[in-house]
Amino acid sequence: MNETFSDEFIKSLKKFSSVRKRIVNKIDKILQHPLMGEPLKYDLRGLLSVPVAKNFVIVYSYCRICRKRGDDKILRCHDCSDMIDETVRFFDVGPHDKAYEID
Ligand SMILES: [Zn+2]
Repeated sequence: MNETFSDEFIKSLKKFSSVRKRIVNKIDKILQHPLMGEPLKYDLRGLLSVPVAKNFVIVYSYCRICRKRGDDKILRCHDCSDMIDETVRFFDVGPHDKAYEID
């Protein structure tokens, strides 16, 4: 499995050091089972989220799903076509409201 981490994700990982271990464990699980996440809707369609703690989520995409959906408007996976199918891309981690923000 190929994986990428956004700058935002790395920043958040440093910021939320108290739950870093849980986040890292969850990343491992996602890489083993990329379909485990809950599909997001509307502006975030094509992305998936997995809870780490209460109101605290990891937001990612799995490029095999990006393509299956044939959705060319996946906002954050804009350079999807450069990625192999078996790529998990981590976009953000943090409290709900923040992690779902679109930049
Ligand atoms: Zn993608």
